[in-house]
Amino acid sequence: MLSRVFTQRAINPQASARAFTTWQQALDAIEKHNDRLNAFVAVQDKESLNQSGEQAAKRRAEGTSLGPLDGVAIGIKDNFCTTSLPTTCGSKVLEGFVSPYDATVVRHLKEAGAVLMGKTNMDEFGMGAANAFTCYGPTTNPMDQPGQDELRVAGGSSGGSAAAVASNMCMAALGSDTGGSVRLPASYCGIVGYKPSYGQCSRHGLVTYATSLDCVGILAQTVQGAGVVYDTISKYDEQDPSALLPELRAQVDEADRKLAAQWPSDDLTGLRVGIPSEYFVDPMSKDAIDIWRAGIRHMKKRGATIVPVSLPHTRYALPAYFTLALAEAGSNLARYDGVRYGYRAEEDTASYADTRTEGFGTEAQRRILLGTHILTAGTYETAFLPAQKTRRQIQLDFNNVFLQHNPLYSTPAPTEGVHVLLCPSATGPAPKLSDILKSASDDQGEKGHGVVDTYVNDVFTVPPSLAGIPAVSVPFGKSSEDGYPIGLQLISQYGYDRFLLRIADTLAVHS
Ligand code: GLN
Repeated sequence: MLSRVFTQRAINPQASARAFTTWQQALDAIEKHNDRLNAFVAVQDKESLNQSGEQAAKRRAEGTSLGPLDGVAIGIKDNFCTTSLPTTCGSKVLEGFVSPYDATVVRHLKEAGAVLMGKTNMDEFGMGAANAFTCYGPTTNPMDQPGQDELRVAGGSSGGSAAAVASNMCMAALGSDTGGSVRLPASYCGIVGYKPSYGQCSRHGLVTYATSLDCVGILAQTVQGAGVVYDTISKYDEQDPSALLPELRAQVDEADRKLAAQWPSDDLTGLRVGIPSEYFVDPMSKDAIDIWRAGIRHMKKRGATIVPVSLPHTRYALPAYFTLALAEAGSNLARYDGVRYGYRAEEDTASYADTRTEGFGTEAQRRILLGTHILTAGTYETAFLPAQKTRRQIQLDFNNVFLQHNPLYSTPAPTEGVHVLLCPSATGPAPKLSDILKSASDDQGEKGHGVVDTYVNDVFTVPPSLAGIPAVSVPFGKSSEDGYPIGLQLISQYGYDRFLLRIADTLAVHS
């Protein structure tokens, strides 16, 4: 069971030969690759790893295994609270901070017997798409060859988790996804990155970036592996005020399982797959388009009906996302003032401004300033409110194309429509680290690109985040130039998470 669920079927050659990994094998991989990749920022001590591993092995031998995650090596993004290791969110602001409690999803994993290997690198408070904006230094792409000149990024903000999974330092990892932070690094690293519906997995103990968008995300070597983690952590939690309530959860769950059961095999007859025309965007590489076409052919060959659809407000998704995410971040991060929370500048005479300027990195400062500005009188009306209205239009765009009814809305589903949408996860393969660093330090980087221009990398991942609907990136091809992976994204209606994973698994079969 374990080897079937977790054996890599994706395109990452480093990973392709592997089967189930014990915590010792995971630790070996950490010792071997972590200096180069910088995926883990803190690793659990050997003694406790050994203890959890031995207990799991004993349960297995006695036939009292806790389930499919018992003894499985799992990584945890460093914005999930853990009692056994610090939780720093890639920020000097939280240096050395140890939480007095475990995040609910971490607790679920522990109760399922998972061996938690440690905490993974991330962009500061989740703000980034390259895992280059972190106080620990960048995570690099596991597909890079040792000694290679031009390193590639792992993607962000859950780049540490993605690189760890792709290089066999763990079998799966928790990430968080506010606007694409598991799907983009998954695409860049050649693994599966899944963002469940908003409200399905508890965020109690997940340090906030943008509250109305933050979701717990899962990185795994296979779609089935992601599904096993999802089954373990997707539970109602009264400590998360945005959690889907039990009664509605049960209804949604039933409809989801029913739909998933309609396609038990790789025969996709009867499945309607939407291709959103607005996703053919300018910055997309030829490879990304080719891989998208190959995905369409793949599904068609298995009997699916391919339907062109329109999501007319897509072009406003990026500006709306960055307006709302930054406004929420500016407000959420105000708590780190060095008095009650976070780093404090040493000088007795230091002001809040000194404390925050020393504590936060450049990108976080940029976003806090912009976000605070967005919420000031005048700009609130001209930027924040229009972005909220745009968000609603984007949600309605999705409701207008999905055959499944959105259980959070009273409007009925359309009679003509699709079950899933298929589109790219990223505009191309992982960018070069030097390009990202250049655009960050010089607002007119070599190609005339500043850091804000790199925000375009999230173009395919932010619309489902704004709508709160589930989306998954599956490895599907490689760049023809250099062999770096590129993923395809499947998106479905709110609550149809298992159905989405079922269909995503049929995409994984090609490799
Ligand atoms: N790259 C996006 C951002 O910087 C999304 C990050 C995320 O999902 N945490 O906001």
